[in-house]
Amino acid sequence: MISPDKKYSEEELRRTWLQDFLMKNKSKKNENQIILLKDLLNLINANDPKFRVFMKQQISKYHKAEKQNQFNRELIRRLKIQNSKLLKQLEKMKIERRQSKAIVKDLTEQANSLTKFNRTLAEALGACPVCWGNNTDCKSCSGNGSPGWVKPIRKLFNLYVLPVWQHSIGKSVGSG
Ligand SMILES: [Zn+2]
Repeated sequence: MISPDKKYSEEELRRTWLQDFLMKNKSKKNENQIILLKDLLNLINANDPKFRVFMKQQISKYHKAEKQNQFNRELIRRLKIQNSKLLKQLEKMKIERRQSKAIVKDLTEQANSLTKFNRTLAEALGACPVCWGNNTDCKSCSGNGSPGWVKPIRKLFNLYVLPVWQHSIGKSVGSG
């Protein structure tokens, strides 16, 4: 430790200061280093002008470094917040995308199922599966494809149409 009462040679002062400085600042922050440097500067009280200039430069450097560190810490803090927000948004979008995919898959399955059933029913009734006779521009039937347009497929007719007929008129219409 530098003593204010002792007279040091320049070399002794530098060495003592350095040892002192390193020992005291193993785990301290810049703020503490600045205080220590100021204290040391007061202790040696400009006995050595070169040393004093050196100390002032060091203090200035530490101030600048601390300012930059503060700025960096704030920048990092803000970037972390932004990053966290972006990650949350990304997670939300991933979930939404999965949900959208599931909805599209479900709708596609439903559409396929309805298309298939439409064709089956049209074949059971001998109707045009494209327009059921409702479109004069239909390439398949030119608007003539209402039920009975072609011969129904018997197996499908018996399965889907016959039971309804039997129920509504209360009697069999034969199996021919
Ligand atoms: Zn048609």
